Amino acid sequence: MNREQTRPMKVGPYQFGGNNKVYIQSMTNTYTKDVDATVKQIKQLTEAGCEIIRVAVLDMVDAKSLGEIKKQISIPLVADIHFDYRLALEAINQGVDKIRLNPGNIPKTEHVKEVVEACKKKNIPIRIGVNSGSLPNRMVPTAENMVETARHHVEILESMDFYDIALSLKATDMNLMVEAYRLAAKTFPYPLHLGVTEAGTAFSGAIKSAMGIGILLAEGIGNTIRVSLTDNPILEIQAAKEILKNLGLKDKVPNLISCPTCGRIQYDMIDIAKKIETYLLKVNKTINVAIMGCAVNGPGEASHADIGIAGGKGEALLFRHGKVIKKIKESEVYDVLVEEINNFDDSKNNGTVEE
Ligand code: SF4
Repeated sequence: MNREQTRPMKVGPYQFGGNNKVYIQSMTNTYTKDVDATVKQIKQLTEAGCEIIRVAVLDMVDAKSLGEIKKQISIPLVADIHFDYRLALEAINQGVDKIRLNPGNIPKTEHVKEVVEACKKKNIPIRIGVNSGSLPNRMVPTAENMVETARHHVEILESMDFYDIALSLKATDMNLMVEAYRLAAKTFPYPLHLGVTEAGTAFSGAIKSAMGIGILLAEGIGNTIRVSLTDNPILEIQAAKEILKNLGLKDKVPNLISCPTCGRIQYDMIDIAKKIETYLLKVNKTINVAIMGCAVNGPGEASHADIGIAGGKGEALLFRHGKVIKKIKESEVYDVLVEEINNFDDSKNNGTVEE
């Protein structure tokens, strides 16, 4: 089953699953009860491109903070709850858009029923999260055991006529994660939230996540994604956008093309490329920007770029689609490129990706 065939459902104002776009999620690392800090981080993440945010709910103070957080943010809020059904009820009462809870971890059926009824009333989906590191009964972490664990939780909800279910089957091992999600996609009709769990620090974690999430998305599996990094969660959003953009699943994200440099280079290109990359993080346009090391090969090699520069000794060539427009001084490169990016109309570059 691929993502188009999964069961569509609502999370806040969005529809996910089915034929809807793939959404970017992240999780705050503030204390949820510290409402100001949590709201501040959610706003920063929203500005960076986060579309759904999850917060940890550890106790009743956290749960009772959710309404105030929700009031101050503009994206759907997901409450992450382990074991305690009362926290789930309070989170639902506070107006969250989705809860992450494994019903099999709540000992009494009547308590699960209470949560399910509350979710039904408010039209809130439940995400079941299976993690390779915490399978029950010391099960060996295999794809089959992860799917069986998910099935156990799913069947509890289905027995209560509840079907607004999303699933995640995260593993620290990328190959296991891919296998588990492939099997889950064959087994369940529900949308899948993709992620490599405890993926690591920014560099290695982003690569591991890009591979695992990327393989699955390319096969048509996955409806929401989270890149988990041991770092500022803003980097998770940047990595997630890169993954979606490179698979053609997201527009309005700039693409930086830059050569690796070689013995032909005659200016400080690496510094300019890094500065432009930082500037592009704030740009919501489908634009290809090239920064090339030399005028001999640069414009030709990057002829598919909308805008580009190719450096020389103390000067650079500005080009569009491989055609040289003008010569500029090296000291002007950054400002000229920024102006070109700001003036660029990306309407011709849009409309080819799935929404
Ligand atoms: S564009 Fe020029 S400097 Fe960059 S890798 Fe190619 S030949 Fe080398």
